[in-house]
Amino acid sequence: MFNNQRLTHGIPFGVYLHVPFCAAKCPYCDFYSGRDISLIPAYVNAVKEELRTLARARDFADRGLFSRPVASVYFGGGTPSLLPGSEIAGILQTVKETYLLQPDAEITAEVNPTLKERDAFFAAVADAGVNRISVGMQSALAEERRALGRRGTPEDVLQTVKAAKAAGIDNVSLDIMLGIPGQTEESLRQSLDFALSLFPSHLSIYILKLEEGTPLYARRHKLDLPDEDAAADLYLFTCRYLKEKGMRHYEISNFCFNDRVGRHNLSYWRCGEYLGVGPAAHSFIDGKRFYYPRDLRAFIAGEPPVYDGPGGDAEETLMLALRTDEGLDLAVFADTFGVSLPPAFYGEMGVMQKNGLLVNDNGNIRLTDRGFLVSNSIIAALLAAL
Ligand code: SF4
Repeated sequence: MFNNQRLTHGIPFGVYLHVPFCAAKCPYCDFYSGRDISLIPAYVNAVKEELRTLARARDFADRGLFSRPVASVYFGGGTPSLLPGSEIAGILQTVKETYLLQPDAEITAEVNPTLKERDAFFAAVADAGVNRISVGMQSALAEERRALGRRGTPEDVLQTVKAAKAAGIDNVSLDIMLGIPGQTEESLRQSLDFALSLFPSHLSIYILKLEEGTPLYARRHKLDLPDEDAAADLYLFTCRYLKEKGMRHYEISNFCFNDRVGRHNLSYWRCGEYLGVGPAAHSFIDGKRFYYPRDLRAFIAGEPPVYDGPGGDAEETLMLALRTDEGLDLAVFADTFGVSLPPAFYGEMGVMQKNGLLVNDNGNIRLTDRGFLVSNSIIAALLAAL
């Protein structure tokens, strides 16, 4: 068996804040969020209190974790932009008071394009230190947004990006969805072109996954969904198209210009440590995983995070590294976890290389675009051969 060491040394620490509110529930989404915005003030107070409590906590603080510089803060959800800008500023102020926030920290807020009073919101959050936004665009076509049950229009996306940039936030990421009912390569090209016309630094491209228990899942047989092959073609088209436009495909679902990677998420894939606060938020600290139950009222009442077992072992490290274009350095991996890679492992690698799924650059392995498409089975085969 492997030593349960981790490769986290030198990887920056991140803080994630889960904002569990949405104006309406999109029919494909199973992220934890609710619509009772009257609970926002109580939620914000609970987040601040929890940040302070954790900063004082003996078992964390004694390890010096919270005197470590925080390199990234990420407001995710849910819909963080449902919070007034002043509330986001207040939470960031608490982070600054309780942790060592690096002066060049990446501070991201997810933003819904239906955001009202954009100028005031962005002025407040930019002033508080937010320097990156991630906008849920999904598609530039009204009928595709409707098929997803998303509110807002491409014009809203345009105005949101404009307002953010006017406030000085020029690091803009847009989310785009693949595999939407009725989507074709041509309609996808229109969405990509629209996104690129807004000069983003970053695009996240997700294949629609119908989660069990969601309204869209219940209606799946009535939807004009692309089949698996068609969705794979859309993905490969996207990879080619965005590379032609000069973007770096640095993770299965993520592309950037000029190496402006999402530093917060990249740290996850490098097995870096992070503190997650809010209902449904997860943490990985000192080799252990924790999460808060999906229960806003329990969070507000001060229910502590739940231990979720160890993390950061060899399997997880391999799995996460192969999501990225950095890939996995086999010598460092074997040395860190005290494993010697058996011939069967190299045999599997050889087959994958022959099939154009994996590249081996002098002992550093990474997946190709086609490999990314079937990453789960590749990773399972490599792990089975270890
Ligand atoms: S806005 Fe985002 S988090 Fe909220 S329901 Fe829709 S997809 Fe889910």
